[in-house]
Amino acid sequence: MIRRSFLAALAFAAALPVAAWAEAPLKVVATTGMIADAARQIGGDQVEVKGLMGPGVDPHAYRQTRTDIVAMTRADLVLWHGLYLEAQMGDFFHDLERKRTVVAVAEGVDKSKLRAHDDYADKYDPHVWMSPVLWRDVVVQVQKALTEARPESADTFAANTQAFLAEIDQLDAYGKQVLTAVPENNRVLVTAHDAFGYFGAEYGYEVLGIQGISTQSEAGLNRIGELVDTLVDRQLTAVFVESSVSDRSMRALIEGAAAKGHDVAIGGELYSDAMGVPGTYEGTYIGMLDHNITVIAGALGADVPARGMNSKLSAGF
Ligand SMILES: [Zn+2]
Repeated sequence: MIRRSFLAALAFAAALPVAAWAEAPLKVVATTGMIADAARQIGGDQVEVKGLMGPGVDPHAYRQTRTDIVAMTRADLVLWHGLYLEAQMGDFFHDLERKRTVVAVAEGVDKSKLRAHDDYADKYDPHVWMSPVLWRDVVVQVQKALTEARPESADTFAANTQAFLAEIDQLDAYGKQVLTAVPENNRVLVTAHDAFGYFGAEYGYEVLGIQGISTQSEAGLNRIGELVDTLVDRQLTAVFVESSVSDRSMRALIEGAAAKGHDVAIGGELYSDAMGVPGTYEGTYIGMLDHNITVIAGALGADVPARGMNSKLSAGF
């Protein structure tokens, strides 16, 4: 009897095609939606990607949940951003490195391309996804990590990466076109926190955040007073709220300007540190930036296509 079931088990194992093992998707866990999207674009059906941070989630404040920990300890590859973005998770990842393959993909970007952090001399501004040109470098790091985890799929990953980079280049060209159509003295971006530095540097916009580079710093009343004066002096009429940051201080700014007889409106909601709802266009990296570029250019005075670069944005302008 024992012998029979042993033989049956052997027969079953032999009947399993070898390819079934090779083709099981690589289990990838990524912290931000932007990194998860890159892994999906590059990995295609060779990967099964779980993104930890959904719409509206602030990565500066996020801590891993029990479910996240289970997913990460079972993953073949864990991708995080690094550059001190996931400030509350650093220790966890350094610990996990001893057990799993863990890659901080933004740490692979050439440091000479990074902006300094305003609070820490030895750190950098982590918001590199805001510049399509810099995000290319991160996408290549994701390709590298996937290829090391599954070398036999190198060709597929390389082809998918090229196609994704071409889309990113198209996005950058669209950004240059509509953002430079904004009158020069309107090229000022007032936002809740300083997430748009790379965006500003790429497209020639001055960026004024109420809070600093991390959402964890307090917005002082002095800073709000300063910004109210700037809005009034320069006759700026639009400010922007962010999907992952409370709009409380933004309302204080609008009220402050109104008290000085200057009308300021909310130019729209931008995706700063998290993408839109999964399954929608805004829930992809390209859609997220198309939304931001189109909303900013439109609110500051340029003619923009009603539904953005790919005619896929959910809200018209
Ligand atoms: Zn941020």
